[in-house]
Amino acid sequence: MPLLQAEEVSVSFGGRHALDTVSLAAEAGRVTGLIGPNGAGKSTLFDVVSGLRRPMTGRVLLDGHDVTREGPARRARRGLCRTFQHLELFGRLTVRDNLLVAAELGPGRRHAARAADRVLSRLDLTDQAEVLADALPTGAARLVEVARALVLEPKVLLLDEPAAGQDAQETGRFAGLLRSLADEGTAVLLVEHDMSLVMTVCDVVHVLDLGSVVASGPPDRIRHDATVLAAYLGEE
Ligand code: ADP
Ligand code: MG
Repeated sequence: MPLLQAEEVSVSFGGRHALDTVSLAAEAGRVTGLIGPNGAGKSTLFDVVSGLRRPMTGRVLLDGHDVTREGPARRARRGLCRTFQHLELFGRLTVRDNLLVAAELGPGRRHAARAADRVLSRLDLTDQAEVLADALPTGAARLVEVARALVLEPKVLLLDEPAAGQDAQETGRFAGLLRSLADEGTAVLLVEHDMSLVMTVCDVVHVLDLGSVVASGPPDRIRHDATVLAAYLGEE
């Protein structure tokens, strides 16, 4: 059974469907990609899955439990964490304090400082630990946002455009991190516009267009899928 399942989720804004009966799963030990043009509904799906938005119809299951009526904090305690497309760091706090604030909400709160330092070291951020988040270049800030999710030791990790603003070297290292998280058993759900990252790192890719899943499959198949190419025409 997949760790995370969204079943026939619908959301509309002012009568227009942002999500129209979308079903999607993320499995432990895999990187699941979610791609699609701007406005396709990717971030809205993350909002539904993470508990920030109640769907009009459909369900969200986490490890088999129906969590559709649970709030974001409760889902986080069940092991579901996310990052945001628009950075949500505390700009006036240092990198380490951003992680500590998160770690103190988590299951390992008594060892928050150790958890924060472990993640900083894993992500090569130890040298930036005392830098104010506001002072970071975008690529590093993205990584700190991921670090902040990782101190909670998520079972399911939702990443909304984590590589936006990273340079090629940062993205290369980031791909390695995603693979190692999956190898440790994390279910990673990745929304990303960097196609080479998606195609290298994902085990399976779902394509969302105008609120519907229009294609799903391994990266090699998705890359050549006519429906996918059509969804992106005029985009890039
Ligand atoms: P994506 O992340 O794939 O770019 P979004 O989920 O942000 O897409 O948006 C999907 C659709 O829903 C878009 O048409 C967007 O304009 C609309 N939308 C998203 N959030 C809101 C909101 N809070 N109010 C009204 N419309 C919204
Ligand atoms: Mg988005």
